[in-house]
Amino acid sequence: MITSFTPQGLRPSFKRSDLSVRRLNEKFWWQFLPAGLATLVVIVLLQFGVCQVIETTLCHALLRFKDPIPDRFQEWLWLALLSVGIGLGGWLPRWRFRYQLMTWLSLCLGWGALSWLLGASGSQIPMAAPMLLFGLCGSAVTLTESVRTYVLLRQSEKRYALALCGTTEGLWDWNLRTDRIDFSPRWKEMLGYEAHELGDRPTEWLSRVHPSDIDALKLALADHCQGQTPHLECEYRLLHRNGSYRWMHSRGLVVRNRWDRVERVVGFQTDTTERREAEMALQRTTFYDALTELPNRVGFMHRLQQTIDDTQTHSTISFAVLWLDIDQFKLVNNSLGNTLGDRLLAAVAQRLKSFLTPENTVARLGGDEFAVLLPQIQYAHDVTHMAERLQQLLSLPFNLDGREVFITVSIGIVLSSAHYTQTEPLLRDADTAMHRAKALGKAQYQVFDRTMRTRMLLKLQLENDLRQAIAQGERYANMMGIAAAPPRHPDHWVPEACADRLAASPDLSSLHQSSLHQQLQIYYQPILCLTTGLVVGFEALARWQHPEQGFLPPAQFIPVAEESGLIIPLSWWVLRAACRQMKQWLTVFPEQRFLTLSVNLSSRQFSMPGLTEQIQQILRETELNPANLKLELTESMVMDNAAHVVDVLYQIRALGIHLAIDDFGTGYSSLSYLPRFPINTLKIDRSFVSQMDTCLDSLEIVRTILVLAHNLGIDVTAEGVETSEQQDQLLEMQCEFGQGYFFSEPMDVSAITQLLERQQPY
Ligand code: C2E
Ligand code: MG
Ligand code: MG
Repeated sequence: MITSFTPQGLRPSFKRSDLSVRRLNEKFWWQFLPAGLATLVVIVLLQFGVCQVIETTLCHALLRFKDPIPDRFQEWLWLALLSVGIGLGGWLPRWRFRYQLMTWLSLCLGWGALSWLLGASGSQIPMAAPMLLFGLCGSAVTLTESVRTYVLLRQSEKRYALALCGTTEGLWDWNLRTDRIDFSPRWKEMLGYEAHELGDRPTEWLSRVHPSDIDALKLALADHCQGQTPHLECEYRLLHRNGSYRWMHSRGLVVRNRWDRVERVVGFQTDTTERREAEMALQRTTFYDALTELPNRVGFMHRLQQTIDDTQTHSTISFAVLWLDIDQFKLVNNSLGNTLGDRLLAAVAQRLKSFLTPENTVARLGGDEFAVLLPQIQYAHDVTHMAERLQQLLSLPFNLDGREVFITVSIGIVLSSAHYTQTEPLLRDADTAMHRAKALGKAQYQVFDRTMRTRMLLKLQLENDLRQAIAQGERYANMMGIAAAPPRHPDHWVPEACADRLAASPDLSSLHQSSLHQQLQIYYQPILCLTTGLVVGFEALARWQHPEQGFLPPAQFIPVAEESGLIIPLSWWVLRAACRQMKQWLTVFPEQRFLTLSVNLSSRQFSMPGLTEQIQQILRETELNPANLKLELTESMVMDNAAHVVDVLYQIRALGIHLAIDDFGTGYSSLSYLPRFPINTLKIDRSFVSQMDTCLDSLEIVRTILVLAHNLGIDVTAEGVETSEQQDQLLEMQCEFGQGYFFSEPMDVSAITQLLERQQPY
């Protein structure tokens, strides 16, 4: 019946019935109708003498009276009936139906009993007409109520049908006594079935529920039927006709009988597949990494927090976090390209995932960093053993497009402890331990201890101090309009141009005085021609006069600067200041015009766009002839950026600047690349030169480098010459230049000025 209604067809009739019911309820006269009608009927019956016949029969049958009720009662009876009927008719309908019915029934029976009692005691009152009146009134009220209920029921059914047609939800009504379920057509449609398809057995529903969800649904049903939940609510997957599972959300309520027994469960089901899919997609992007499909940082932290919470409640549980970082991944990216780099990351993820058991969590924290959570460990050595196994696992070659790629990983380990209540400090410590492992030479693992944290904090402090020192240096250079390195000694040599400016301006003079307190300074180490013994140039080397820690060599702050990115402003500052200083020396000592100033470039600087333009700008600013400048690059810098490095090197060379490869022999073997690079000088690393006289291998390496360089038309500077034997050996092998403590340590500006004053032109 319900299905035959359509919303369009239902609307007009719904309005009509709605109005009529309202009329029924609201019109006052309607209250009199049942009793009024009944009174009328009784009066008509009286008029036609029907009541008298009944009366006489009753009197004879029940009370054994021979005489009927005298006629003089008739008028009074009419009046009494009219007033009682209408009076009660107007008053009683305000009561609830059952009270009205009971009242009419009791009046009817009560009057019968009263007349019988009176009759038994010899008095006679009319019996039939009043009892008929009360009886008919009761029947009329019942009839009216039935009509009313019927109308309301019809109306409610129509409303229900309309609601069913308009709703997107599927209704189900489970009769527990018959064990049948009435599924609405929409319910069936949700699963791809027509209204006449599917039976009414519970198995039609339950057998289609996903095996993983069925228990939860049964439990929710049972809990609700037992009164443990205020309503039934459950989300589960249901098998669609097309074979796919759709997410459904059911809400329902039990219907109990008057003995509080559950008779039915009624509810509706909503298709939540789209919402679920959207949620899952969102969850995937929020908690998972798209490239490796591993949990991302957020996902990992979520699981880690759960594990931490578990350990807080069960103090016997211990866990560990391993922070893995691929060593020199940038090199892989630069040499193989980002696409293969991504594939390598995905392969690493896959290898880790297949190696670790499901209870362990492996996640990609970002870039080339992975994390492993071991939620249950017994001994610390289990964790270090695991770290070793992971390192071995990842050291096996990866095959990417037919190329074999080898990697190593550095691992930082943190073991659970009571003071880790949040993920952040734990991950921070794992990161610290990983950096320690890297600092100790990569491909290592380190278990976090508190000294690492102290060391890290000191490093951060140093980084902060360095930032301020660089800012101070730049401020000074800007205000002075020069960027000369501040001399250390008050009696230092003041370049003429600078001296003139200092004399002209008291402000500048005071600034110059303050320059004595500059923290960053540049020292210059002479480079000599081995055959003539003359200084042919200097290498500019940064120094830091730290306010608390004193005089710091580069080894103590360059790594910090490189890690923090401060190496970029630092190196530009050194280049600008050294060029300015060199220009001043060349102005004062014009006969030394062939001197070269060697300045170290950092790898970060080298990979920045606009490198050539910035160098050009500094040369323009300082007015230094490009021929007097030599830039030193390391092998790894050239190799890391091999793709675009040749172009940049040619651009620099085109400016007339010389190029040198520093620390040659320690980095990648760039021998095959060497002919492609426009290099002027190779600087043989100190480690070979210093061992030349004691280690035959070192000697042979130096010899080979010299032969190679000379064949390519490149000159060679030997770094770290400390003895006359080394000088002799180098001379014998026709090495052109030397730099080392044997000749001179790095010196400040005034010492170099004095040296230049003494030296003959080169
Ligand atoms: P480097 O460019 O190879 O500089 C040569 C280093 O060898 C200098 O160390 C120098 O003092 C040291 N040296 C020279 N001859 C000898 C010797 O006979 N014996 C010994 N034991 N050492 C000798 P320094 O000044 O400590 O600099 C270390 C490194 O720091 C430099 O190596 C360079 O890579 C880096 N560095 C220094 N200043 C700067 C800078 O301004 N910018 C950049 N990017 N790096 C810099
Ligand atoms: Mg150098
Ligand atoms: Mg060097």
